[in-house]
Amino acid sequence: MGSQKEEKEDTGQEIPEQEVQEQEGTEPGEEEVEKLYVRLDREAEHSGYHLNPDAEFTKELLYGLLVNEKRYGYLACPCRLASGKKEEDLDIICPCDYRDPDLNDYGACYCALYVSERVRQGKEEAKSVPERRAPPELRLQGSGKKPRESEGFSFSGKLSKQVWRCQVCGYLCARDEPPEVCPICKAKKERFERFI
Ligand code: SF4
Repeated sequence: MGSQKEEKEDTGQEIPEQEVQEQEGTEPGEEEVEKLYVRLDREAEHSGYHLNPDAEFTKELLYGLLVNEKRYGYLACPCRLASGKKEEDLDIICPCDYRDPDLNDYGACYCALYVSERVRQGKEEAKSVPERRAPPELRLQGSGKKPRESEGFSFSGKLSKQVWRCQVCGYLCARDEPPEVCPICKAKKERFERFI
């Protein structure tokens, strides 16, 4: 399981030497990693997700997430190259937009931080996960996100509230504003898009 991280292409996200991190003040302590581990594990189990049961491997990924948080101000995916501009990296803030389809198709997210129930139980192996994220030139073209009508969905009825969709897990809710945090996957408000 833990080897999946090593198979990823070199994204330039190599964690700098400890000395460099100390100089930059980006080295997370063990306590921080443990705290994040406990929180994400609790949230995941509460919502029907599972962290990789290889705790050592999982904590290495959490360390990478915390390094990115200190560097960029948000928990950018530790297996991808973040731009450092939050609006361009929203789709790869953990949990990323690609986690759920990857769990469904491959039994693990791209980094293998999250795994499916069957993988967690050892009933099947996680498959190698190809990168689902579009290359930068395509992503930038689609940066001004449009409501779902533009993707072939149309609704001609009248609703008293707008409908919002969590781009991470697909949760839908009808209200004036999206929720601060998705009740299912815990993604923040900024990860919601207008659905109707
Ligand atoms: S859920 Fe997405 S962002 Fe988080 S570790 Fe997995 S691949 Fe990276």
